[in-house]
Amino acid sequence: MTAPSPTVPAEVLEKAARGERLNAAEIEALYGLPLPEVAGVANALRLERRNPDVVTFLIDRNINYTNICNVGCNFCAFYRTKRQKDSYTLDYEEISAKIRELEDVGGTRILLQGGVNPELGLDYYTGLLRHVKANHPTIRIDAFSPEEVLFMEKTFGLSLDALLDTLIAAGLDGLPGAGGEILEDEVRQKAAPARIGADDWFRIIDAAQRKGLYTIATMVIGFGETYAQRTRHLLKIRDQQDRATREYGGNGFSGFAMWSLQTEHTRLHGKAPGATAHEYLQQLAVARLALDNIPNIQASWPAQGFKVAQAALYYGANDLGSTMLEENVVSAAGGHGRHRATVRELIRIAVDAGFTPAIRNSRFEIIDWPDVHSALGRAENNPEEGRAVGAAG
Ligand code: SF4
Repeated sequence: MTAPSPTVPAEVLEKAARGERLNAAEIEALYGLPLPEVAGVANALRLERRNPDVVTFLIDRNINYTNICNVGCNFCAFYRTKRQKDSYTLDYEEISAKIRELEDVGGTRILLQGGVNPELGLDYYTGLLRHVKANHPTIRIDAFSPEEVLFMEKTFGLSLDALLDTLIAAGLDGLPGAGGEILEDEVRQKAAPARIGADDWFRIIDAAQRKGLYTIATMVIGFGETYAQRTRHLLKIRDQQDRATREYGGNGFSGFAMWSLQTEHTRLHGKAPGATAHEYLQQLAVARLALDNIPNIQASWPAQGFKVAQAALYYGANDLGSTMLEENVVSAAGGHGRHRATVRELIRIAVDAGFTPAIRNSRFEIIDWPDVHSALGRAENNPEEGRAVGAAG
């Protein structure tokens, strides 16, 4: 990918630093600028838009209720066909057992997502939501990607509105924006010909936002997409956020999460370039400048590892995502060999980077302040103490 030559680079950064909205050409020009300069503005905007002392994270658990999927994305090492020996669909009690483990560590939400399993009827989904609400009343359920919702819409003979109303009545709290990748069909069709198209992804997210559901915007880089395609992806997200702010009482994307493509054990291995740490951090910084209407930007530790995620806190990110407890999709394709983060690990990443860690809910509202001293076990006279905790105060 050749970096675009910026037409008016200094002016673009000055404009972004003033908080003014960048157009497509200006966003694309950012990729041609030295990363430290873009990162400097991204960090300044992050400090302005969210509490400059605080880095947040969520205590949650990913639960992948089935790995059977008939979409067959080329970049996915998680899915199985029904006949494969290690295919599975969890029953409600197995899901409850996982939620109890989350409750034991003070978790507040589950991210419930699966493959698109043609064997499952609407009753499985609604029964699951009702089961979780009845047995785990304090747990928030953010569930189903637009891909799964599209499958349900096509299969169960309900309009999108009726389907979402049914799921909400059964207990659905949010519809995470998984499967965004690059929301340009040219990129999507090469990586996954049967994947949900960009228009359907936005149609479903728009309906979810209209109904008051939680959503986040996502992005995955490294398919070999161009800077122009990345720019259009960001602009589509920004436009949707404008619409949600205007028409749905501000219920747009609660945050933006971005990570790099992992291809181990997938059919894209050796065919898609993925992204280096530099490219990831560059994209994160560009996103902070482009998405002037989304204040919360997550650093991704499952794909980038803890160290790059920590560095990302100075490239525009104000949040460390969540503990996950188990992560099966990114890790199946390589990731950083990590399926989970402990609360202590996320506290340490935030503290050592100079921030005060705070535990949030999925809407990015702070619900607790962890006891940093006891979590890290650092004595008062520990030489790290002044640098870490003191800097955050
Ligand atoms: S990414 Fe999701 S939709 Fe695609 S094959 Fe994997 S489980 Fe199925």
